Amino acid sequence: MTAARAVTAARAVTAARAAVVTADCQGCGACLLTCPEHAIRPAPFLVVLEELCTRCGECVEVCPVDAVLLPEAEVIA
Ligand code: SF4
Ligand code: SF4
Repeated sequence: MTAARAVTAARAVTAARAAVVTADCQGCGACLLTCPEHAIRPAPFLVVLEELCTRCGECVEVCPVDAVLLPEAEVIA
C-alpha cells in the first residue's frame, strides 16, 4: 500500500467511527457538556463532528437514555 492510499483509508475509518446521537435523545445536554473535544454541537439537533470525535466514550457513559451509540470501526475505503 502506498503512503497516499494509507492516508485515505485512515480518514475513512475515522469518519465511520464517530459517535452517533439517535432519535431517542431527550435534549438534556449532558453529552454536549461532557465531551472533552467539544465534538457535539446543539443546533438544529445534536450532531457529532466526525473530525473531532476521538471515540472516548464519555458521551455514551453520561447519557441517561442510552441515546448515544459508538459504532464499530468500519473500513469504507
Ligand atoms: S466519543 Fe468522546 S469525543 Fe466522541 S463525541 Fe463522545 S465524548 Fe466526544
Ligand atoms: S446525554 Fe443523551 S439525552 Fe442528553 S442530550 Fe445527549 S444524547 Fe440527548
